Amino acid sequence: MSSSSCFSRRRFLQHSAIAGATCTLPSFAHALDWTPLSFAAVRTRAPLTPGAFTPLPLGSIRPAGWLRSQLQIQANGLSGHLDETWADVGPNSGWLGGTGESWERGPYFLDGLLPLAWLLDDAHLKAKAQRFIEWTLTHQAPNGMIGPSSNNDWWPRFVMLKALAQYHDATADPRVLALMEKYFRYQLNELPARPLRDWGRFRWQDELLSVIWLYNRTGSPYLLDLARLLHAQGYDWIAQYANFQYTQKITAEFIKLNEGGGLKDLALATHGVNNGQAIKTGPVWSLVSGSSTDRSAVLQMIAELDRYHGLPNGMFSCDEHLAGRDPSQGSELCTVVEFMFSLEQSLAITGDASLGDRLERLAFNALPGTFTDDMWAHQYNQEPNQVECSLHHKPWVSDGPESNLYGLEPNFGCCTANFHQGWPKFAASLFMLSGASEGEGGLAAVAYAPCELRTRVRGTAVHVVEETEYPFRGSIRITVNPASPLRFPLQLRIPAWAAGFTLDVNGHPEVNPTGGGAGGARIERIWKAGDRVELTLPMHPRISRWFNNSIAVERGPLVYSYAIGEDWVKLRDRGMTADWQVFPATAWNYALEVDASDPAKSFEVTAGTVGDAPFTRRQAPVRMSAKARKLPAWRAEDGAADPLPQSPVATDQPVEPITLIPYAAAKLRITAFPQCKSEQNS
Ligand SMILES: [Zn+2]
Repeated sequence: MSSSSCFSRRRFLQHSAIAGATCTLPSFAHALDWTPLSFAAVRTRAPLTPGAFTPLPLGSIRPAGWLRSQLQIQANGLSGHLDETWADVGPNSGWLGGTGESWERGPYFLDGLLPLAWLLDDAHLKAKAQRFIEWTLTHQAPNGMIGPSSNNDWWPRFVMLKALAQYHDATADPRVLALMEKYFRYQLNELPARPLRDWGRFRWQDELLSVIWLYNRTGSPYLLDLARLLHAQGYDWIAQYANFQYTQKITAEFIKLNEGGGLKDLALATHGVNNGQAIKTGPVWSLVSGSSTDRSAVLQMIAELDRYHGLPNGMFSCDEHLAGRDPSQGSELCTVVEFMFSLEQSLAITGDASLGDRLERLAFNALPGTFTDDMWAHQYNQEPNQVECSLHHKPWVSDGPESNLYGLEPNFGCCTANFHQGWPKFAASLFMLSGASEGEGGLAAVAYAPCELRTRVRGTAVHVVEETEYPFRGSIRITVNPASPLRFPLQLRIPAWAAGFTLDVNGHPEVNPTGGGAGGARIERIWKAGDRVELTLPMHPRISRWFNNSIAVERGPLVYSYAIGEDWVKLRDRGMTADWQVFPATAWNYALEVDASDPAKSFEVTAGTVGDAPFTRRQAPVRMSAKARKLPAWRAEDGAADPLPQSPVATDQPVEPITLIPYAAAKLRITAFPQCKSEQNS
């Protein structure tokens, strides 16, 4: 046994000492040192086809600056307390041995709580997560089945397996490998007679991730048989998008929702969360199939979703099914976090920088935009043009009247259980390991936010510090500290919008900083402790085109919205939190005056301090002034803005100055604006 595995074992024993512990854990405090170096990233094992990057084990990356504050807000909000106020993940959960909810909600909660706890190194939250882990690890049936015996659906187990893999990455607890090995053997035997159905059939690629994760660690050949069986029984998402048919807003009649008898295939194939999870299918399956066509299918999937259902916040509409491009349509929070997770996995496998661009667009806009500032309440559906959050039936395909309230479990409780993974998995994915073998190893910065990284590259300990106020500012400083001088490549994703970027190393410009694969810069040199990389990404205001030729205003990875005045009215108390309606307190029906030949001239940027809650209206770190005219004919009906008129539009209303703030900071907002006819420009 090597010294590092001795160390892993010791850490594991410290962890296992808390089995079944309550939330107070004084004996755990001595284990809080940040010592993840014993947990090396595990590369793809032959005959699987390696991806471009390897995700780093949970614990390698630590959030800093505003990102740490944001995770702390999440921990202080619903994530840190959900089990105390919502019975579905409380002490009577089936996933804790109780008689309560025994399907997806316990695993969903754990899948986000666990990385949140380890990223913050919070003993209290770790203990909460550990209770779910311990119950599952100590209650495997003799035949290998895991989870509550009252429910044998394969699907919720997919989620528990994802959580267990993260737990093993963070702790090296050997019980995880043994449990998964026994479970997968059981499942391989069972699946022919009891095949994947409904949710499991449409989400099979999420289990495939865990099967591959285990194969990379054990090399057991039967796991590749299981991978192929999941593929054979699972829905063919790659075929769906190779010949995409769902190009219109789905209707309840089309998917036969009113016929009863559960969701039909058409409903499952057009279901928002299913599609968000499906985006990773091509890259993940390509690890097994070796097909470059499969690997690049992710780009085709995203392009089709954008073309027919794309929204300026980076999402596709899904309320609850694909809903077209009208920015009054909603996107479900589960889909936001699942799309993000799909992008993180797809980015690791393909190395394609555009997936990092999209990941940031979701993380910095759609994700924080759908929570209250304190993360004690969230929406089921968010809208880019969200003029009212109230009890109303329009404009959703099939969702209920509470869908865009901010609350505990508006419309349905899946998002209440599932949202927790969004920020933590983003933070854990900022850096990845490059190179197909240890000898070729390097580091890749695939998304940007303040953080620290400790890992091993080519066998040498490397500490990296990233200091930045990105996404609000464009300058990023990365300090590289290898334990001893070490040659390796550092790859930096260059966003598509960052024309004219500059890259300096120790104050000297990199002459030819390209060549890092699709959309990246690559610096290979002998790194010495204290070497400093300065990346400057110019952030000029720019516009993008959306539904009915409307315009959205962007700067860097942030989308900017007109912040409608907000009148928050409590609908009801919900245990430790509450459900809220938000009514507009000001007009919102503006068309923008934009000089299309030089959009940047139409906006004046004011930069303020980046505080500890940067995605809130009170602390919005960047504001933009713009000119607009009212469009009296553009109104709302039943709480939703009518479809935007086709741009450009004529209006005789006077020019008014309006202020744009980051999308996420404006809970009532206009994001896609009609554009005034140019002859009206003054
Ligand atoms: Zn949901």
